[in-house]
Amino acid sequence: MRDFLPERMILRNWVAHQLRTTFESFGFEPLDTPAVEYADTLKGKYGEEADKLIYSFQDRGGREVGLRYDLTVPFARVVATNPELPRPFKRYQLAPVWRAERPQKGRYREFWQCDVDIAGTTSPLADAECLMVVAAAFERLAFKRYTIKINDRRLLTALAASLGVHGEAALGLFRSLDKLDKIGEAGVRDELATRGIAVPIADDLFHFMALGGDLGRMESYFAVRGTNDAAAAGIEALRTIDEALQASGVGRDFYAFDPSMVRGLDYYTGPISETSVEEPRIGSLAGGGRYDTLIGMLSGRDVPATGVALGFERILDVIEELGLQPGGLTRTVSEVLVTIFSQETLGESLALARDFRAVGVRAELALTGDRLPNQLRYASRRGIAVAAIVGPDERAASEVVLRDMASGEQTRLPRALAADELVRRRPGQT
Ligand code: AMP
Repeated sequence: MRDFLPERMILRNWVAHQLRTTFESFGFEPLDTPAVEYADTLKGKYGEEADKLIYSFQDRGGREVGLRYDLTVPFARVVATNPELPRPFKRYQLAPVWRAERPQKGRYREFWQCDVDIAGTTSPLADAECLMVVAAAFERLAFKRYTIKINDRRLLTALAASLGVHGEAALGLFRSLDKLDKIGEAGVRDELATRGIAVPIADDLFHFMALGGDLGRMESYFAVRGTNDAAAAGIEALRTIDEALQASGVGRDFYAFDPSMVRGLDYYTGPISETSVEEPRIGSLAGGGRYDTLIGMLSGRDVPATGVALGFERILDVIEELGLQPGGLTRTVSEVLVTIFSQETLGESLALARDFRAVGVRAELALTGDRLPNQLRYASRRGIAVAAIVGPDERAASEVVLRDMASGEQTRLPRALAADELVRRRPGQT
């Protein structure tokens, strides 16, 4: 868990603003939920390993509670307990979540997730829209390259069935397959062997992987093995997603069907996705999928739903490592330091600061009563671009001196024009 000092926060706020703007451009509505949920709501949704990472405790009233582990389960609870919500219900949420992880690069104990979810429709178009949001967000953040890997849980189930692997053994097979990126084919084969899965089955598994996510070839594979029915819905969903992404301008360079991608969490039931960049190597930047039974686990009535979570911290790490911060972003929120020349001119300085704020210029008043050179030094140290000075001469002439703190250049101008001049000098303005 980390502190974020102002310079960091300015970048974080900017990124959050870009994400909110993207989400709203697709018609997602804002939603917020408490940090704490009943432990019963959280437990038994993510899978055995993940459940162990939930921060849970007893509150003062003896209730078993926990810090939210993601934003999907709280969203599912909101949908389960508010049946009057419109369908489909589309919401976004940017909020911290907590996991008792072993921290490392890109892995924190407190981190923000930025989720969009759609409840109330089984249409694969909704799954596709979540991926369009990921693409639109990354485009807005000037990410040149990223890959959205797409798969469908139903294909994985059909695959296991076609291999004659069922139940717990199938889950074990998926867990090993999920590590393909990290440990390679040989590593996965070793693991399968220790799980008691015979070599011919592993051969068949990698034969399927060699189809490289080609939808037509995967379909033929299932047809030959007589498991086409189980796979059909998955293949059809992926086809719709494929067409929808292309028609909305997300090119094939940015997504790929990957039959080995599993995603850890238990609650997924349909299309799943994971987005990453090659450089820097930081793990997935976003992940999500369809979870048609999760809301039913909380209310007894199934409501189909799908969504995606963008990992805010990793997105920031990438922006900082690749230097994608926007040019106009400053180190400080203050655009001008209004200095105080002397006790006699204090009223002038206060009025000037108010005039600046009235037109939206972020004006900080020098509060310490230091000598003017010290006030200017403070402006430099803080990275404030301009200092405004009103001495007795300027006051008499209704003028202001604007000092550019980088060049030291001073401009004397009528007070009434000073705010406009500051707006004109803003970074990115010409
Ligand atoms: P998940 O809820 O595990 O599917 O994660 C969704 C996204 O959240 C991932 O793609 C990551 O970008 C991000 N994420 C997950 N765990 C962490 C963590 N411990 N620290 C920072 N970001 C994380």
